[in-house]
Amino acid sequence: MSLQKAARLRLSGRAGCTFANMNDSYDVAVIGGGIVGLAVAREIKRRFPRMELVVLEKEVRVGMHQSGHNSGVIHSGVYYKPGSLKAKLCVAGAAAMVEFCREHGVPFAVCGKVIVATSDDQMPRLRNLLERGNANGVLGLRMLSPEQLREFEPHASGVAALLVPGTGVTDYAKVCEKYAELIANQGGEVRTSSKVLGIRAGESETVLETEKHTVRTRAVINCAGLFSDRISRMAGEHPDVQVVPFRGEYYDLVPERARLVKTLIYPVPDPRFPFLGVHFTRRVHGNVDAGPNAMLAFKREGYRSGDFNLRDTVESLTFPGFWRVAGKHWRMGKDEAQRSVSKASFVAGLQRLVPEVRAEDLVPGGSGVRAQAIHRSGELVDDFQFTQTKRMLHLYNVPSPAATASIAIGGAVVEMAAGVWGWG
Ligand SMILES: Cc1cc2nc3c(=O)[nH]c(=O)nc-3n(C[C@H](O)[C@H](O)[C@H](O)COP(=O)(O)OP(=O)(O)OC[C@H]3O[C@@H](n4cnc5c(N)ncnc54)[C@H](O)[C@@H]3O)c2cc1C
Repeated sequence: MSLQKAARLRLSGRAGCTFANMNDSYDVAVIGGGIVGLAVAREIKRRFPRMELVVLEKEVRVGMHQSGHNSGVIHSGVYYKPGSLKAKLCVAGAAAMVEFCREHGVPFAVCGKVIVATSDDQMPRLRNLLERGNANGVLGLRMLSPEQLREFEPHASGVAALLVPGTGVTDYAKVCEKYAELIANQGGEVRTSSKVLGIRAGESETVLETEKHTVRTRAVINCAGLFSDRISRMAGEHPDVQVVPFRGEYYDLVPERARLVKTLIYPVPDPRFPFLGVHFTRRVHGNVDAGPNAMLAFKREGYRSGDFNLRDTVESLTFPGFWRVAGKHWRMGKDEAQRSVSKASFVAGLQRLVPEVRAEDLVPGGSGVRAQAIHRSGELVDDFQFTQTKRMLHLYNVPSPAATASIAIGGAVVEMAAGVWGWG
């Protein structure tokens, strides 16, 4: 390590520092300081401690977008197709996340959750989830009768439920901070306020222009979340997927009524859209929220319903794949839109799970924007998708459960990078 860099590392011993007028060379640059980029960077420093690494994050802090605006659930892995990356990395990642939180003092609780069938016609799908979960290696799954459900969640109601005892909750914004601290401790750099504005790929290196400095690097890993497709196009590539943003809104249960929910109460999902269906989550800090729904967002990082960005909107609406998805799934979109504009519809969805909930128990809560990759052909990309080009790896599709799975994703991506670039 150069003396100049050693001195700077002492200065940048924690995430959040910014640098002016620097021109540096690295072995690898990670674009995006969300939970996935940080997990990848941490794994690189863990496996290849001598590598010169930088994480470039455009915001003033790490974890300010999807990673800091989610439900905070450590998912167990019951929903995902056996053999998929989501199934494998979620199951492995959930165990690793619990261990990480325990080791590093990040708040967490393994509280379990119930997936509740509210009518007999949902039973085949509930049984299918039990089979999927078992096939994926999720431990301790058990069917509950209505009476057993009430022992676990006294205010929930249904014809049966699946108990998923290993589900937990944590604070992923805190996990991000801890990842960044560990990267800095291992000699990596996390540069915030460093938006990547331009990418020039040369024969032996890639040049990244940021707001404050120029970074030269041998390899780039694109973990830019809602902007991963745009980063790819910035590098002159033509990805066959586009990220379409979907905003999810939450309500909070008022503290006096939070006793209605002990842990997590979920509906039986449509297997094609496991992330849909409003549910209750008791957060790691004790409050209970309900939601989120999912609506097309007119701004990639727009957290309020009126937020609008012309470029983001035009890109979504002129992408042929978007209209093919809309044509196929318009009915589901209509239901979600209804829940977004009508509190009564939102509450009706929740009352199927917990009949005592009333509209006055709910106050508007936070929101988050999901990055969902859509293929040009009009398919929602279901599994995690990591794509390799000559000098870059792109993580185009890392939606839920990517926060849960982040440590395992880090392992899988670094394995891929090591193979592609001959590391080690
Ligand atoms: C509403 C909601 C609820 C969810 N609930 C859960 C859950 O309970 N459990 C779970 O496991 N997962 C959940 N998820 C999914 C999970 O939050 C995401 O999969 C995960 O956070 C993705 O992480 P990321 O690092 O890819 O993206 P992000 O956190 O969005 O990070 C990408 C980063 O890239 C940066 N960036 C973008 N462009 C540039 C640029 N040009 N230059 C530099 N930096 C740039 C951004 O500022 C951002 O910080 C949920 C997601 C949402 C939206």
